[in-house]
Amino acid sequence: MEIPHALWIVFLFAMGASTGSFLNVVVYRLPLELSIVRPASHCTGCKHPIAWYDNIPIISWFVLMGHCRHCRATFSFRYPFVELLTAMLFVGLYWAYFIEGVRSDMPLFGQGGYIVYSGHIIMLCALLACSLIDAEHWVIPLSVSYIAAGAGLIMSMIAPYWATIKLESPCELAPYASPGSGAAALGAAAGLVVSLLLLKFGLLKPSFAEWEQDQIDDQKEANPSGQPTAVRNDKDPAAKDSKGLSVGIDINVRREMLREVAFLAPIVSGGVIFLLVLGGGGELGRWWREIILEQKWMAGLLGSVFGFMIGGGVVWATRILGSLAFGREAMGLGDVHLMAAVGAVLGWAGATIAFFVAPFFGLGWALTRLALHRSREIPYGPFLSMGTLLVMVLYDMIIGYFAGAFTIPGTMP
Ligand SMILES: [Zn+2]
Repeated sequence: MEIPHALWIVFLFAMGASTGSFLNVVVYRLPLELSIVRPASHCTGCKHPIAWYDNIPIISWFVLMGHCRHCRATFSFRYPFVELLTAMLFVGLYWAYFIEGVRSDMPLFGQGGYIVYSGHIIMLCALLACSLIDAEHWVIPLSVSYIAAGAGLIMSMIAPYWATIKLESPCELAPYASPGSGAAALGAAAGLVVSLLLLKFGLLKPSFAEWEQDQIDDQKEANPSGQPTAVRNDKDPAAKDSKGLSVGIDINVRREMLREVAFLAPIVSGGVIFLLVLGGGGELGRWWREIILEQKWMAGLLGSVFGFMIGGGVVWATRILGSLAFGREAMGLGDVHLMAAVGAVLGWAGATIAFFVAPFFGLGWALTRLALHRSREIPYGPFLSMGTLLVMVLYDMIIGYFAGAFTIPGTMP
């Protein structure tokens, strides 16, 4: 028996509102490096704990008219807004996928559709949290991106075992590697491990290392007892000022970019070498092809890893080329991680297209600012998120268009 849409929608709305309530905690506490779980919700004015009946998503804020029951301190409208927005994302995605049917091959929600839905909704929640934090603090927390990427990897490993989830069409519902893209993904992953080890043992230097050390020293001077909180705020104009005032630290952006190129070199060469060795037609190639065809979880996993590498790689390449060209940092490493996570969930094509759609949202915002004479600049994370959401809804249309024009690697057997 199939459960009617209306029941799912009520359930998902409640789930979404509660998740939004949790996202509020994450967005408030994570940038301040406070624990997500403890203490329980309390008024920041009078420290009074908030009772469960005053903590019901969306509703409680309106019942209390945005004030603390005890000290009448104001609670921001952002709290019910984020809860409502999250609930609408939960319901909206269900509506688009299972009622409107924007993804042609999507099975019913109860027959495997929920696997794709879960992976996508976790990513959307992560994007929302990152966007809110980025808009306020000009930094994207990597941990949130990792959660989205992890959801993508798990979804892609499970999806191939559901006969209802189609993975062979160009508009596949979850990332799925061909022998070629799988080999490249495995090589790139091996290269990433090498790069991280080189970094750990000091054979590679992280970019902006001197600047970051300087920031930590500054903070220690200002606050000798406190833990140093090194949150790099490269895009914040205020942080640039402090960078300029820093004693004797001269940042050469081009030199820092060469460090990042050195970090990426093992990853790119790993991908190319594995592609040439395992993706070829020889003995090894045949052996690899058999593994990929038999071990479906591996094809899913590597498809997701491939998406992670390409999604992050496109942003990173833009960052390096832009920074080399203009001599100042273009795009943050937070943006790189964000789109890598999108690639792990939507696959390489979705992430790449979303990255190229994002500037149009940025342009729209810039024009709105011009028209309204408002000066508030916002960072790039929210635009990347909006681009991703648009691509999710229009995925079949866009991929269908490209599939007609080119052969899409990664989807061919
Ligand atoms: Zn209070």
